[in-house]
Amino acid sequence: ARAELMKMEKMQIVSQMAASISHEIRNPLTVVKGFIQLLQTGRLPRETEERYIRIALEELERAEAIIRDYLTFAKPAPKETEPIDVATQLQKVLQMITPMAHMHSIHVSSSLEHGVVIGNAQYFQQCFLNLLKNSIEAMPNGGTLHVAAENRGTSVVITISDNGVGMTKEQVRRFGEPYFSTKEKGTGLGAMVAVKIIEQMGGTWTIESTVQKGTTLTITLPASRVRPPTAEQSAAG
Ligand code: ADP
Ligand code: MG
Repeated sequence: ARAELMKMEKMQIVSQMAASISHEIRNPLTVVKGFIQLLQTGRLPRETEERYIRIALEELERAEAIIRDYLTFAKPAPKETEPIDVATQLQKVLQMITPMAHMHSIHVSSSLEHGVVIGNAQYFQQCFLNLLKNSIEAMPNGGTLHVAAENRGTSVVITISDNGVGMTKEQVRRFGEPYFSTKEKGTGLGAMVAVKIIEQMGGTWTIESTVQKGTTLTITLPASRVRPPTAEQSAAG
């Protein structure tokens, strides 16, 4: 019964995610639809037309950004949990973000110990993609991004450090709150999605940050004794 309950809770989280995404996407799409309907009349002054087109494009970009924060790795498959190796998963995310980091003169370093946690690989990657993207965006003039994973036996501790803009106490407090963003084109959803995924894995997180010095995020996940899937199994899944 306990296993069933846990399975139900997991299903709920998945359907909650799906519900939030469609809710979030609907707003910008409604705006785009409205402006296109206005344009369709064909009787607007040229300048107004241009303005409406610009707004519609901005709203479409916003919809895209929201999808990126939620669904970068989504496959049309049920989101099952399995033993996953944090080093392998973090390596994949680092590979994705390194070109973006280099474009912004950011040096990326990592020190990854193997450690197995129970989670969903897609969600795990989405979580860390969102967090690492925030670190990169916090260093507009370059810097260093360091990612570490430490196996402590009963837990795996992941730290993400940047020497970027940092956060005030108030910003630290609001981290993970929906729509909280200090960026012009921010969604304020990336950290919320990351925090939800960490909590779903039974993990905890803390933030140490100093304005104009940088931020260190520490994520502690319960370790599993189960062995991770072999490379072949991962490739098949
Ligand atoms: P977005 O990135 O779209 O603004 P997020 O939910 O991903 O939204 O992040 C929320 C806010 O948290 C950011 O706007 C930023 O103010 C703050 N933040 C998150 N990570 C960092 C970081 N590494 N350094 C500084 N600020 C950060
Ligand atoms: Mg973000």
